[in-house]
Amino acid sequence: MKARRVLERELSRIPAPLSHKLYLEQYVTDVGAATELLFMGFNGGGIAGKQVIDLGAGNGILSIGAILLGAESVTAVEVDPDLGKLLAENVSDYPVEVLNIDVSDVSGHWDTAIMNPPWGSQSRGADRPFIDMATAIADNVYSIHNYKSVEFLRKYYSGKGRILKERKILVEIPKTYRHHEKDKEFFEAVIFSVTTVED
Ligand code: SAH
Repeated sequence: MKARRVLERELSRIPAPLSHKLYLEQYVTDVGAATELLFMGFNGGGIAGKQVIDLGAGNGILSIGAILLGAESVTAVEVDPDLGKLLAENVSDYPVEVLNIDVSDVSGHWDTAIMNPPWGSQSRGADRPFIDMATAIADNVYSIHNYKSVEFLRKYYSGKGRILKERKILVEIPKTYRHHEKDKEFFEAVIFSVTTVED
């Protein structure tokens, strides 16, 4: 298994998008948060040897991380065609299939869904189709959300599966949009581990 800092170093080399679309809430997950999610998935048995889907894949940081931790294959879903091109370039050396479609149009079954979906801060409820889809198509879900919504999320996930773990973390978001006042800001986030399989 890869040591955490080796994974962090590899993830920090993945090219980021040159521009961002605010209405899609495009951010690049900071490497520390991505690593945290990936190791939670790995330790929960949801990554190594598994078929994984990454919903709202962006530049592919979570998809590539899953492959580096031993996933058999990853399906990377991204609605934005511009970002889809960068994503396809970034994952070209790996067993990752890119689907340039809306999250609501996904169909199939995967062992594990990983995602850092929009947090719903620009468009309220933008995270819900991600949660709906992830819990419908995968046995395990690992997902990063805004900690501000934690109580809503607990209830929402509980209606769709069983929450196995919940971890509060700090996420660093570099200045991406004009409404960001500082060079970088820290946000409280929460990672959920959810299973949809009855025991
Ligand atoms: N997973 C990446 C990107 C997170 S930002 C990372 O961790 O760095 C959220 C991503 O979801 C953006 O790339 C955005 O374009 C994408 N997205 C937003 N709405 C979407 C939708 N309806 N269907 C698919 N992707 C969507």
